[in-house]
Amino acid sequence: MKKVLKFGGTSVGSAENMKKVASIVLDQKSKVVVLSAMSGTTDALVALNAALSEGRGILEEKLSELEGKYRRCTGELLSDSKEADTLIGDTFAFIRKTAARYSGDKSAKAIVAQGEKMTSAIFAMYLKECGHKAALIDITEAMRTDESGAVDTAFLASKLREILSQSDGDTLFVTQGFICRDSNGDISNLGRGGSDYSAALIGAATGADEVQIWTDIDGMHNNDPRYVEGTYPIRHMSFNEAAELAYFGAKILHPSTIQPCREHDIAVKLKNTLDPAAEGTTITATGDSSKKYHAVAAKDDITVVRICSARMLLAYGFLRRVFEIFEKYRTPIDMITTSEVAVSLTIDDNTYVEAIVEELSALGNASYERGNSIICVVGKIEHDTPGLVADILDSIREIPVKMVSYGASSRSVAMLINSKDKITALRRLNDHLFVNR
Ligand code: ASP
Ligand code: MG
Repeated sequence: MKKVLKFGGTSVGSAENMKKVASIVLDQKSKVVVLSAMSGTTDALVALNAALSEGRGILEEKLSELEGKYRRCTGELLSDSKEADTLIGDTFAFIRKTAARYSGDKSAKAIVAQGEKMTSAIFAMYLKECGHKAALIDITEAMRTDESGAVDTAFLASKLREILSQSDGDTLFVTQGFICRDSNGDISNLGRGGSDYSAALIGAATGADEVQIWTDIDGMHNNDPRYVEGTYPIRHMSFNEAAELAYFGAKILHPSTIQPCREHDIAVKLKNTLDPAAEGTTITATGDSSKKYHAVAAKDDITVVRICSARMLLAYGFLRRVFEIFEKYRTPIDMITTSEVAVSLTIDDNTYVEAIVEELSALGNASYERGNSIICVVGKIEHDTPGLVADILDSIREIPVKMVSYGASSRSVAMLINSKDKITALRRLNDHLFVNR
């Protein structure tokens, strides 16, 4: 079985954990390992970029602290850390030099890419020191996006084939998640948390049967463990369910991860580096159809946009004009509900909300409101089964619901509520749908 294994920031966040990762990788007989940056790295580099773009200068203290973390890790991990010392020295010199000549987005992306670069190189050094045949792949030679920001999957597949064929069959390849090049050939990335997506794309490009995402929790839980007690990992779920949960706030998985795996029918496993024997979650095409309700997730920072227009009555082409405005501002719509004279929709990217609402005003009465959360219940919520939607809404009867979306799929019900009611809603749904059953 061909497996691609991806490890998140905490999994590679210390020398001790990196050793655990090495034993998992060897145990699983994986060929390709995709790594995030050590925990805290990307946050620190993003903060550095923010300071630079706001003209606050370089955050020297933060940068030295980060450098110290890498040096401590390699000091503990490697018996001979000479090569790693040079790598860390060169990388931080590069970051300082780029920061001194900071020129906006291009510099920021070059800086933020350094975490994955260092972490993967250090891990490859460790494998080699332990006597394994390991090779480091610079993924920016293979992962590139086009003008629209989409990854060129054909190029990725052919490049990886070429790179993998240059080594013996027993070589273990280590590479970076998250980073890529853009259509100009500059260093870029797939967005925060994008390493999962990298692993899925690499799995699809190399004909893998399984992509394993290793984090610090035993699979995807049926509710948010940060707010709800007694949550449990879901053992088996379908691509569609996982995609909805990842999108609607289950932090364990980047929402784009599912699409390449579904397309190539690659099983996705969510596993815990700190407890490798735990079963985790398996995501496949079929999932588990034995349960009515599978999970609840919530997504914050949702803005609702409302358009009310008498012109919508019996008119065609109205929604197209509404959508065109969102398209113009490249702002995806998540939830949508319509009545005969009004449309309500939600977005999670507020960058252009004011401009969007101003243009929508030409079509009718337009307004927006921030500070909302989408609560999504995923399960077998069949269209012909009575009582299911009522059951869900009944759980949160004392909470004002601003929008409800059901019917597009028989797998989920989404509700928009004020964010201040979120925790109560998650707990009530948990009691009603999972505990008191
Ligand atoms: N290191 C990147 C981040 O923190 C990518 C990832 O971990 O998936 O967003
Ligand atoms: Mg992640």
